[in-house]
Amino acid sequence: MGEFELIRRFFDRGPARRSPLGIGDDCALIAPREHGQIAVTSDVLVEGRHFFPDVAPFDLGHKSLAVNLSDLAAMGAEPFGFLLSVSLPGADEAWLGSFAEGLFALADRHGCELLGGDTTAGPLSIAITAFGHVPAGAALRRDGAQPGDDLWVSGEIGGPSWAVGERYAGRGAALGSGLVARLDRPEPRIALGIELRHLASAAIDLSDGLLGDLGHIVDRSRVGAEIDEAVLPVSMQLAAVSPERAIEQALSGGDDYELLFSAPPENRAAIGALGRRLNLPLTRIGRIRDGASIVVLDARGRPRARLPRSHEHFG
Ligand SMILES: [Mg+2]
Repeated sequence: MGEFELIRRFFDRGPARRSPLGIGDDCALIAPREHGQIAVTSDVLVEGRHFFPDVAPFDLGHKSLAVNLSDLAAMGAEPFGFLLSVSLPGADEAWLGSFAEGLFALADRHGCELLGGDTTAGPLSIAITAFGHVPAGAALRRDGAQPGDDLWVSGEIGGPSWAVGERYAGRGAALGSGLVARLDRPEPRIALGIELRHLASAAIDLSDGLLGDLGHIVDRSRVGAEIDEAVLPVSMQLAAVSPERAIEQALSGGDDYELLFSAPPENRAAIGALGRRLNLPLTRIGRIRDGASIVVLDARGRPRARLPRSHEHFG
């Protein structure tokens, strides 16, 4: 199966709404909305670094797009399209069919169409660039947090990074299905991001761990922050094993793909109502302060002396 046959069979789904040409020309043409901006994000996933060699292709298709959609969610953007560039060791039809199924199942749920890309032979890696619309000036950024703002996080955190460690240790089979789904098929918080355009002062998605990603908000906004560790929405499954480990993992793990955001205290009631409407727990985990440091307070309100190291690329 050649490159063009492979694209036609697995990835060409005809004309796209947001791109009159669809795929197959030299470039994709994107028709922007009037008075809007286009948010663009890109992520590369490499075998052995970002996923296990035996990952289910359906899950890999889902996650490759999900990590990009999560970045769009963090900006309050509404996804509409993506480019897919893959390097494949071979043209395994069953593998490709399942990969495309996982990819498009998520894409279709968010009205996000494949606009183009590239394929080549080589070690397995997947690069996706995703596009979303946001009204001009409405994007959620990292640099808007103000001293006095509340700090919020969506969902539950710490479980996926623990699950990765368990897999490395050969104990993956013992993980619960809920945790496995959260790690392998994270749900980008698109609806939340869009609603937060009017409620949040800054936002980021949690890919590198709470402390690391909060560090980006703190740096860009030139503020400090306090986290109350006792109220962190830690993984219940992990807390049942070790409460202390659950807190450390929630602070320093990665791969959560939840949203961390700051918002003025007057928006508390509206944010609470939003969480109930989306059926997504939104937890107030601390506050933005003057200064430049991040302090984690224990259950008695005392600062933790030592903070767990956060996940870093190329570490
Ligand atoms: Mg991000």
